[in-house]
Amino acid sequence: MLVKKYRILSLGVILILLVFLFNNRIFLKEEENDNALIVNYAGFENTDKNISANVNEKNNLNKSSVIKKDSIKEVNYLTLHYDALLVDTHNDFIWKVFDKGAVFGQRNSFTQSDLPRFKAGGLDVQVFAVWIPMNKISRSFSFVMSQIERLKNIESENSSDIEFAKNYDDIIRITDSKKICGLIGIEGGTAVEKNLDNINTFFENGVRYIGLTWNNSNGISTSARDETERGKLGGLTEFGIQVIKRMNEVGMLVDVSHLSEAGFWDVIDNTTSPVIASHSNCYSLNPHFRNLTDEQIKAVAKNGGYIGVNFYDKFLDKDADLNRTLNAYEKYSSELNELNEKYGDDLLKYNEERDKFLSDKKISGGTSIEKVIEHIDYIKNLVGIDYVGIGSDFDGGITPPNELYDASTYPLITKRLVEKGYTSEEIKKVLGGNFLRVFKIVCG
Ligand SMILES: [Zn+2]
Repeated sequence: MLVKKYRILSLGVILILLVFLFNNRIFLKEEENDNALIVNYAGFENTDKNISANVNEKNNLNKSSVIKKDSIKEVNYLTLHYDALLVDTHNDFIWKVFDKGAVFGQRNSFTQSDLPRFKAGGLDVQVFAVWIPMNKISRSFSFVMSQIERLKNIESENSSDIEFAKNYDDIIRITDSKKICGLIGIEGGTAVEKNLDNINTFFENGVRYIGLTWNNSNGISTSARDETERGKLGGLTEFGIQVIKRMNEVGMLVDVSHLSEAGFWDVIDNTTSPVIASHSNCYSLNPHFRNLTDEQIKAVAKNGGYIGVNFYDKFLDKDADLNRTLNAYEKYSSELNELNEKYGDDLLKYNEERDKFLSDKKISGGTSIEKVIEHIDYIKNLVGIDYVGIGSDFDGGITPPNELYDASTYPLITKRLVEKGYTSEEIKKVLGGNFLRVFKIVCG
């Protein structure tokens, strides 16, 4: 009897010990990973995508996202999206201001971007590209300077919402203060005219990248379009090589989007800094002259550079022209505007309600967001996750994929990347981390 009692007692002790060890093991699992953020991306067919991420990585997540081990709760893709720094490396809004009188601080009926749309989309850093129309080519320098003046006016008229940065520390300070951070790029090296010192003037005025050509060739190089459609050979000129050298010296990014292949390889041979393609896609997925071949993508990666994936359906999908139909906004503008008015102050709710509304709508034809994800994924699979980002080209005359109808739709990119199994670390790199790495190295 006594033996039996002891047996029961020891069994009980063993059981308690086992329970203790088991609990402790679970506890230790978290403790080992003290800085781990355990995120359950709810709301998808596959809800068991648990992703751990190191929250120590500077500026990647704000403090409110750190989930303590004793209060694990679900965080959805929207939290990840709005916490991450989102950088878009190419936007032509300033052209819409010049050409059509768009107003930055308000929702414009004829633009794809403006302050309300940037806010809704969770955008943190926008490179505003100054493009030079053909009738201004002969006065490119002064035209670009006048547009930089215009950007500075936007800054002073909207000083609580946007500030322009000149270096990496500015970017962090401005985005920490919850303002949109503006950067300035130039699309078309004609702006340099024949004077290398103009590069210094641009730099002093905040310009941090110059796209060496647009579709037209110039004194710096041949363009991708002229090379492909007119058989124009050449690449960088002697002056072009001097331009690269000066840009490297002052700490300005060389942008190879729109550049001919010959010009591209000349840049790779001559640059001493990483280069960017601010808004270009993959030639292997769609053989368009504006897209980069595998060899070019590999060269950008080897050089430590960056490629921003463009949302133009023609660059994303070779059949886009044939299939084009109305996009989601064109089809359902009144409903989408209504949702924006109703929930616009609560971005999480707004996105959820918009998702819900669009989920049962069949938007066929054109190109879908999946193509953007395909191009991002292609670059990732070819050279790794560290070289790809977003260069939408919004307001640059593009027809974007159906769902990505304006700058308020960036959260859908995060949603799709999560669904594709990207970790939160990888997503943060795509959303902005990769560009910021290159920017810090080159521009300081
Ligand atoms: Zn462009």
